[in-house]
Amino acid sequence: METSTEGAGTASGAVVEAAGAGGRAAVAPASLSPSRAGDFMQCPLLYRFRVIDRLPEKPSAAATRGTLVHAVLERLFDAPAAERTAPRARSLVPGQWERLRESRPEVVELFADDPEGERLARWLDEAEALVERWFTLEDPTRLEPAERELFVETELDSGLRLRGIIDRVDVAPTGEVRIVDYKTGKAPKPQFAEGALFQMKFYALVVWRLKGVVPRRLQLVYLGSGDVLTYDPVVADLERVERKLLALWEAIRSATETGDWRPRPTKLCGWCDHQAHCPEFGGTPPPYPLPVRVPDPQAGEQGRMGPG
Ligand code: SF4
Repeated sequence: METSTEGAGTASGAVVEAAGAGGRAAVAPASLSPSRAGDFMQCPLLYRFRVIDRLPEKPSAAATRGTLVHAVLERLFDAPAAERTAPRARSLVPGQWERLRESRPEVVELFADDPEGERLARWLDEAEALVERWFTLEDPTRLEPAERELFVETELDSGLRLRGIIDRVDVAPTGEVRIVDYKTGKAPKPQFAEGALFQMKFYALVVWRLKGVVPRRLQLVYLGSGDVLTYDPVVADLERVERKLLALWEAIRSATETGDWRPRPTKLCGWCDHQAHCPEFGGTPPPYPLPVRVPDPQAGEQGRMGPG
């Protein structure tokens, strides 16, 4: 699960910033995570709303359940191998839900209109069912992860930083690396598998750059449908992903400077929290924080406001 929330930060090569008329200036991105790269590919305006404007989003029941299930699967590996059973995993659900409520109190809103707790009980049952399905796909008594919830970050030669959180890294005695990601949704149709693998190839590129080893296998475990999608990457795959990310980064930098963040409506708009601000739905985006280049006194530059 990739939960990085990197936003605009100071980046080498970014537009030099000063507060614009609105008191805030857009800053080109310093780094990319699979989620934010995916946002831009899905809809540039969605990326802007999330990264530049940082518009708040309501917690969703499905995403919160995903966070809960991930926490349970991670914690299960604290137990000795023989004790990593389905009943034990299910028993972790209430405690991890408690922890989630403490660390992110806003998730309580999800059940604000559920005074009897019936919806919450069903939701927790669904989380337990997802956890239980995992045991039909993998056997945690035979796994000894090298890493869990591993934060990775690397900087490419171009200066672009890539970052993300890998659910699990397994390392075989031979040194071969397997990257594993859990999904609480259903596996995509074959024609969409490439999109699903993008995130995994992104992680593989980061691991390759960090450790000099191309992961032997990328594995997506779909708890919603009980499927496992695997891919064995080669160097050419990762080089292709790197080129794609650099092109994406350039496109994001250009949009940051020009303010040209196009909406790209698809059926995924149904899941978007920002329809009220989206022109495709009759909304108006917040005023764009204009990039302002600080004048260079040496060069006598006059300063420039980017087109909004
Ligand atoms: S509603 Fe659709 S087009 Fe508009 S910002 Fe959201 S994803 Fe993009």
